[in-house]
Amino acid sequence: MPSYVTRQKTRKTFSWVGRPLLDRKQYYQIYKAICVKNSDCSTEIYIRVGQFVLVKGDYHTKPYIAKLTELFEDGSQFPSKKCARVQWFVRFSEIPISKRHLLGRKPAAQEIFWYDYSDCDNNIYVETIIGPVQVVALAPDEVLPMDQKSEETLFVKLSWNTKNFEPLSPEVLSALNKLEDSPECQKPKSRHSTSRSAHPVSPSAKKLPELDGLGFPRKPNVRLSQKISCDSLESQKNSKRKTASSETASPPKRSQPGEIKTSSALKTLRKNGQAPSICAKRSMTLRAQDPAEVTAKINVEEALNPVRGRVRPSVVPTVILTPRRVTKGQDAHSRSSHRVHRRSSLVTLNRIRQQLWLLDKSDQEEEDSMSSAEASHCTSEEEEEEEDSVPSLLRRNPQRQSRNQRMASMPSLQTPSKTPKKTPNRRTPHHATPQIRDRNLAIKEPASMLEEARLRLHVSAVPDSLPCREQEFQDIYNFVESKVLDGTGGCMYISGVPGTGKTATVHEVMRCLQQAAQTNDVPPFEYVEVNGMKLTEPHQVYVQILQKLTGQKATANHAAELLAKRFCSQGSPQETTVLLVDELDLLWTHKQDVMYNLFDWPTHKGARLVVLAIANTMDLPERIMMNRVSSRLGLTRMSFQPYSHSQLKQIVVSRLKHLKAFEDDAIQLVARKVAALSGDARRCLDICRRATEICELSRQPGGDSSGLVTVAHLMEAIDEMFSSPYITAIKNCSLLEQGFLRAIIAEFRRSGLEEATFQQIYSQHVALCRIEGLPYPTMSETMAVCSRLGSCRLLLVESSRSDLLLRVRLNLSQDDVLYALKEA
Ligand code: ATP
Ligand code: MG
Repeated sequence: MPSYVTRQKTRKTFSWVGRPLLDRKQYYQIYKAICVKNSDCSTEIYIRVGQFVLVKGDYHTKPYIAKLTELFEDGSQFPSKKCARVQWFVRFSEIPISKRHLLGRKPAAQEIFWYDYSDCDNNIYVETIIGPVQVVALAPDEVLPMDQKSEETLFVKLSWNTKNFEPLSPEVLSALNKLEDSPECQKPKSRHSTSRSAHPVSPSAKKLPELDGLGFPRKPNVRLSQKISCDSLESQKNSKRKTASSETASPPKRSQPGEIKTSSALKTLRKNGQAPSICAKRSMTLRAQDPAEVTAKINVEEALNPVRGRVRPSVVPTVILTPRRVTKGQDAHSRSSHRVHRRSSLVTLNRIRQQLWLLDKSDQEEEDSMSSAEASHCTSEEEEEEEDSVPSLLRRNPQRQSRNQRMASMPSLQTPSKTPKKTPNRRTPHHATPQIRDRNLAIKEPASMLEEARLRLHVSAVPDSLPCREQEFQDIYNFVESKVLDGTGGCMYISGVPGTGKTATVHEVMRCLQQAAQTNDVPPFEYVEVNGMKLTEPHQVYVQILQKLTGQKATANHAAELLAKRFCSQGSPQETTVLLVDELDLLWTHKQDVMYNLFDWPTHKGARLVVLAIANTMDLPERIMMNRVSSRLGLTRMSFQPYSHSQLKQIVVSRLKHLKAFEDDAIQLVARKVAALSGDARRCLDICRRATEICELSRQPGGDSSGLVTVAHLMEAIDEMFSSPYITAIKNCSLLEQGFLRAIIAEFRRSGLEEATFQQIYSQHVALCRIEGLPYPTMSETMAVCSRLGSCRLLLVESSRSDLLLRVRLNLSQDDVLYALKEA
C-alpha cells in the first residue's frame, strides 16, 4: 500500500493557463486551468476545472480527494493568491468510527464518498494540489470492485452527509459526469512528461483545440498519446462511459487476466492497445459505468502519490476565507439534500491543534508565501524539513499557516461568482466540539504548608464534616427520611443569614440519604435540585424541575401544568420526589405564584413531594401567603443562626485538620471579628486564605521565619477585606448619618429583606435613639440625611420620589456597614 507523502522536495511553479475572466468586482480572475511545473522542468501538468485532484492533508494522513469546481486568482490579498474551489470527497477512514456501521457493508478498497456537507470549507490554495487523480463515479446499480487492491482508481457510488450514506443523486452523478461533456474538460497538452517513453492517454485531450478559445497555449509538439486519448474518449462516449482524464493521464495499464474486471471504457482503451501504465501520471478519470459491466483496475500509482518527499509547513494547505460556492450540480443537490453537519472528532481535534500551532508558527511561515503580486507564477518552495515541524492540519483546510495572519488582516475573499455572497464563509470551527486536553501531569501536590492550608480553607473544598451543624443536620435528615418512609409529602423552610451553612448542610443530608437509599435503608426516591440564582426568570423553575424529573422540555406555563398534574393528582408518582429549592428569595414574583406553588404542591393529598426551601429571609412564607392561610401549609421551619466566634474557630480548625499553619491567637482573632459582624463562615474562611497569602509574601524577603500566619497577617487581611472608599466614607459620616445607617441595618434584619421604605427606617431610627437616650431628628432632617447618603451612593434611593414610601437599599454589604460603624 503506497504511503502518501505530501511533502515535496522540489519547487513547483503554478501558472495560469489562458486569459482570465474577470468578475464584476475585478478582484477575482477566473481561470479554466492551471499549469504546474516542477522547478527542474521535468514535469508540467495542466489541471483543469472539473478534474479530480489530490490535496495535501495532514502529514500523517492520506491526501484529500476533491473535484475542482473553480480556479481563480484572489486579488483582494497582497500578493494575490491562486485559489481553487473544490467539492470534497471523503474516504471511509475519514468517517467517524461510530458512524461507519451505517454503511451496512464492507467498503470497497478504493471507495470514496461524495461529501454532502455544504458548510464545509471548500477553498484551497492551488499550491496544495498534489496532482490529478482518477475517480470513477458509479451509478446506484453498478457493482463496486470489492477486491481491488491497488489504490490507483477511486470509486464513488455513495454520498456521505455526516449522518447517512446515500446513493448519489442523479444531479450529483450528472455533475460528476459533466466533465466529459463540458468545455471544462478540455485539456491542454503536456509539453513534458516525466516518462518520455510513456504514452499517456487522456480521453479529454480530444477537446484540446477548444482550449484555444479560452486562451490555452497550443504547443507544437502534441504527443501521440494525446491523440490516442482522443480516440479512447470517443470510444468511451460510444459506450456511454464517461471518463475524463488530465493532460498527463495514465494510459490504461494492460490488465492481467483474471486480475480485474474491466469496464467498457477500459476495454476500449485496451482495444486501442493502450495499456494503462504506471508512467501515466497524474491522471484523472471520471466516468459513469455501465451497470452491466464491472469496474476496472487502472494502474495510476503516481496519480495518487505524484510527489514524494517533504514539504515545509508553508505549503501545507490553507483554507481561504471565502464564501462557499458550489457548482451547478452541487448547488442543485445541496438544495435538495439536507444540510448536515459533519462531526468528525478527528477533524475537530485537528482544527484545534492547528489553530494552536498557527499562533506559534505564522510568523515563521510568512516568508514562505508567494513571492510577488504581479507574478502570475505562484511558487511554493518545497524543501526538506523535519516532519515533526508540521502540525496536524485541519481536515478540509489544506494550507493555512503563513497566510493566516495576512488573511485575517485583509478583507476576506469574495466569491468570484457574479453575485457574490455577502457573508464570507468563516473559518471558525463552529461545528467543533471544544475539548479540554487530557492532563499530562498529575496535579501538583501543595508545595508548602501554607498552600495546603489555602486549599483546605477554600469555600469550594468539601469539608469532611460540618461541625456546629450537627443538630440542624439531624433535624433535616429525620424530616426527609420520615417523609420518604411514609410515602407522604411535606415542606421544610430553611432560613438564615448568608454563610451559615444552609446549603452545605442540606447537601450533606441528601448525600447521606441517597447513600441510605442505595443500601435499601430508605425507599428509593427522586432528588431534584434547583437554584434561584441560576434561573434567568422565576418561572423557569418549572421548566428546570420538569426537565430534571422527566427530561421533558416545555414552556414555563406548560411545565407548571404538567408538574401540578404530577404532584396534585392522586396516586400518580411511584416514588417520593425530594425537591431542593435553594435561594428561594430570588423566586419572588409580583403574583408570588411560583413560591406559592412550591409550598402548595406538597400539601395535596397523595402528593409524594418533599420540598426543602432555602432562603435568607425568615418570614418569606408569611409574606407569600398574605391573603392565604399560611398555617394550612403546615410548614416545618428551621433557622440557621449566625455562627458564634467559638463555632467559627472550630470550623477553621476542623478544616485545617491539625495542620499547624496559624497561630492560635490568629484564628481566635478572625473568628471574633467575623462573629461580631455577621457570623458568616464563608467570610471567615476567605480572610484566613488571604492571610496565608500575605504570610507567604512577607516571608520571601527573609522576614518571618516561623512560617505561621500571625495576628498581624490576619489584621492585614481583615483590613484589606474591609477597606473600600465606602467604608472610609461611612467612618467619616456624621453621627446622624451613622445612626441612620444603623437604623437601616436594624430594619433589614427585622424584615429579612434588603430593602425598606423610608418610613420603616425612620421608625427604627427613632426607636434606636430612644434606646440610647438621644434626641431624635425630625422627619425632614432624616430625609435630608437619606438623600445625602443617596447622593454619595452609600444608599440606593428611588430618584422619582421623596415621600414616606421612598424605597431605600444599601449600596454595600451589611457586613461592610457594620464593620465601618464599629471602626468609626
Ligand atoms: P448563602 O445563604 O449565602 O447561600 P449558606 O448558608 O448556604 O449561604 P453555605 O454555602 O452552606 O452557606 O456555606 C458557606 C461556606 O461555608 C461553604 O464553603 C461551607 O463549606 C462553609 N461552611 C459553612 N458552615 C460550615 C461548617 N459548619 N463547617 C465547615 N464549613 C462550613
Ligand atoms: Mg446557600
